[in-house]
Amino acid sequence: MKFAVIGDPIEHSRSPEMHLPVLQKVDPEAVYEKVQIKKGGLAAWIEKVKAERYKGFNITMPHKADILPLLDGLDEEAALFRSVNTVVNRNGKLYGYNTDAGGFLLSLTESGNALKDRKILLLGAGGAARTIALKTLLEGAKAITILARRPEQTETLCTELREIAARSSSRGCDDAIKGGALQDIAQYAGENPDIVVNATPLGMAGTEAAFSDLTFLKKLPEHTLVYDLIYEPAETALLAEAKRTGHKTQNGLKMLEYQALLADLLFLDRETDPDAMRLTNKKNTLERAVAEK
Ligand code: NAP
Repeated sequence: MKFAVIGDPIEHSRSPEMHLPVLQKVDPEAVYEKVQIKKGGLAAWIEKVKAERYKGFNITMPHKADILPLLDGLDEEAALFRSVNTVVNRNGKLYGYNTDAGGFLLSLTESGNALKDRKILLLGAGGAARTIALKTLLEGAKAITILARRPEQTETLCTELREIAARSSSRGCDDAIKGGALQDIAQYAGENPDIVVNATPLGMAGTEAAFSDLTFLKKLPEHTLVYDLIYEPAETALLAEAKRTGHKTQNGLKMLEYQALLADLLFLDRETDPDAMRLTNKKNTLERAVAEK
């Protein structure tokens, strides 16, 4: 079986080392390639996938949205998120999924946290923030506040979230969805969020950009979880300071591992029932699901 991850840049991707151990449990000969595809190169890649019968591939920046019109079928959440990170080739037809959101949820479940009935403070309004905001809404969070440096970016996302919330009475209430400026974070930290999620690259290895002021952490209630989607470095300045202020912390590594594992289950047509998956809170339980089926 042949698999790949596509993106640009791609050379630093850790996907092969994450996927191969699981895929090779089922097919010891399985291969997983890193393929650089530049923007505009997706149509040719799709032809290659079909001609060379790749069983599936993962997608990273900048193609997660651009791939949508080229697929034969889309999972419901991937369609809602307008973001695909996993494609499965079933008899020459390509089906798109998003496992980032499921990975985020499973990482929270594993650390004993949940989104349902929680107040979420989300920093950033880009691609990852959008997926997480929508998943948070679908999971029945009590309130979502999104802060970004560009007000128009938060407003677009909040409007979309409110429209989705309005279509479903069971999915929170729209006046609990609001946006604000990242520079006013101290004010929002004082509104008792249960989970703060950093979905900006502030503090990421290889970037100069960093939070200019972390004193907002002192305004958070004691029980607040500070979750940074960044996994390199393992402990960002945000997480180090959150530890000092006595808060629980989590980095993005488990999310990364779980999104890969969920993708492998799809690649191998071994995805378990989604409800069972949601209840599962151990990675090795999922690995067993692969091995046993
Ligand atoms: P993105 O689409 O580029 O969005 C980034 C967001 O951060 C945007 O709102 C952007 O605002 C904002 N931002 C960028 N630079 C900033 C700065 N200097 N000051 C304030 N805000 C800034 O990126 P993404 O794909 O959502 O990724 C966001 C982060 O999540 C990255 O660190 C990525 O590595 C991480 N991530 C982790 C996982 C995981 O599995 N753990 C998965 C996905 C993403 P502008 O639009 O104004 O620039």
